[in-house]
Amino acid sequence: MRRLRLSEFGYVAALAACSVVAIVAGWTAPASQLDNDVYDFLFRLTARPVGDAEAVVLAIDEPTLVALGGMRRLRSIVAQGLERAAPARPKAVVVDLILADAGEPAEDARLEAALSRTNNLVLACNLVEGNWEDPLARFARQARAIGHVHADPDPLDSVTRRIPLEKATRAERRWALALEAFRLARGGGPVLESPEGVEVAGTFIPARRTGEASRSMLVRYFARPEQARASMPLVSILELERGRAALDELRGKVVFVGLTAQSAPGDRHATPHGGGRQLPGVEIHASAYETMARGEFLRPVRDSVVLLSCLGIAAAAGLTFAFVSGWVAYLFGALLLVAVHLAPAALFRAGLVFPYAAPLATAWLTVAGAATYQHFVVRRLLRKSEAARSRYQQAIHFVTHEMRTPLTAIQGSSELMGRYALSEDKRRQLAQMINAESKRLARMIQTFLDVERLSEGQMELKREPFAVATIIESCLERVRPLAERKRIALCQGEIADAELVGDQELMEYAVYNLLNNAVKYSPPETEITISAQRDNQRLRLSVKDQGIGMDEAELKNIFRKFYRTKRAEASGEAGTGIGLAIVEQVVSHHGGRIEVTSKPGAGSCFTLVLPVAVPAREAKSRR
Ligand code: ADP
Repeated sequence: MRRLRLSEFGYVAALAACSVVAIVAGWTAPASQLDNDVYDFLFRLTARPVGDAEAVVLAIDEPTLVALGGMRRLRSIVAQGLERAAPARPKAVVVDLILADAGEPAEDARLEAALSRTNNLVLACNLVEGNWEDPLARFARQARAIGHVHADPDPLDSVTRRIPLEKATRAERRWALALEAFRLARGGGPVLESPEGVEVAGTFIPARRTGEASRSMLVRYFARPEQARASMPLVSILELERGRAALDELRGKVVFVGLTAQSAPGDRHATPHGGGRQLPGVEIHASAYETMARGEFLRPVRDSVVLLSCLGIAAAAGLTFAFVSGWVAYLFGALLLVAVHLAPAALFRAGLVFPYAAPLATAWLTVAGAATYQHFVVRRLLRKSEAARSRYQQAIHFVTHEMRTPLTAIQGSSELMGRYALSEDKRRQLAQMINAESKRLARMIQTFLDVERLSEGQMELKREPFAVATIIESCLERVRPLAERKRIALCQGEIADAELVGDQELMEYAVYNLLNNAVKYSPPETEITISAQRDNQRLRLSVKDQGIGMDEAELKNIFRKFYRTKRAEASGEAGTGIGLAIVEQVVSHHGGRIEVTSKPGAGSCFTLVLPVAVPAREAKSRR
């Protein structure tokens, strides 16, 4: 298998970090609230009026209360409503009132009688402090089922988007009012259960059982047309009292009897309709019933699917910016963002509730992260290649500059030979000079190529022993003409009789460079001293001058390629700033280091500290 390169690993790690942050952020309270708000927005965007519904609300509204005696006569009002509705033969009747306490005896008797004549009656119960608050036995006896009235308001914003289909005390479990009504309206068969939901007469109702939360079902509320009093069809008991037309609206329907009057206490809930409007509980139950009756359920997508989608989004962003570059990558990134923005809306239309915050945060963070990373990688590569290009340019410049001296000598000598009749001696001298200079030229080219390959890490260093004295000798020889021109004395300090192991040519290049610099950056009539002292297994080869020197800040930079001090520039000496960089490479390839001391105006001392070769006999005698 191919090993992951460091930059690739960094890329993957950066994207993984972005995804983790986004996913974790997606599960925080603010993100959940955003999901809620988007849900409500999408609900309002897609909600349609209920049209011809199966459920109808038989409302105890404000005018009914005013006309028929107010809250004190509530049971009579309900009884009256049931009596009036009976001729419409509703499929089922749900009374959304808790009839747990005994009321006025005559009223209770009238209600009991009305309930007894009601087909498929569902009465309401309420969970209070862990116990069921059930209808009085005289009422309960008349009912085919008893369902709970609880809503499931969101813990963050108290909006009722779902109702729990089941609620249980330790002893007894009750189905929701709407579910019981649905069961009775569909023939009264059993409610079949599975982990993912319940099934009633062939209709599967998605309501997953998740720990404590008890089979929550998202209610598909309906839009409320301009003139309508509610989002569900609504008939008031007073209207029923006054006309036959209202009775027709109840014919064959499932009737939800309940309080809708604003002045009635409690039982109003915020819903995705928003706008500060609260829906009476009875309308919520009717909406829940209609959701089941139409089978138009909203299914929340599982957390594991959301997580996988987030990882998919992160992978898409990562791959896009890894394999595509430039504007095409940005285009793909933008398309991904657009898709992630629109997906929840498209899925909502298909009845799937997909969260918004986590995928969106993942998309934004990973697209931005991947784009930024690649931007910097590209920039770094660009910088690298530019640096390499300019290094080559400078190096070529350097070599051509250095080549000029031997070339001039060769040109001059050959011209002399061609133009004048020279003595045999002179001819031989010039021929020798041409030969020596062309060899030097060849060596120079070889050195340049070697150093280039060395810095690219492509070259294996030669490993042969050579005497320090030899290279010092030949370097002094080479630099002497330059020194003489400036009347600079070349002195030799102690030269140890030591051998080094490595590439003689390269080491010579390094020492020559130090000497050449010393001459270049020293004023005339000064002194340069070269010495090579042994210090245990190390050799300290120093070149000391009395030249222009350098300050602390400059010293830190002189080994950088193409760096030249201002002082050096001002001295008028030609240079490229590459020599010391090469010297450092050569020395470090020989297992050594460079020490420099210098003071502006007082001279510099460059010392190469190199490991000494241990001659075989010395190694033996030491053993
Ligand atoms: P070059 O001499 O071609 O500019 P080098 O890499 O050999 O490049 O040296 C880098 C810089 O270090 C020089 O430009 C100069 O500023 C400084 N330098 C090197 N040697 C000396 C020296 N002996 N005295 C003062 N400055 C020096």
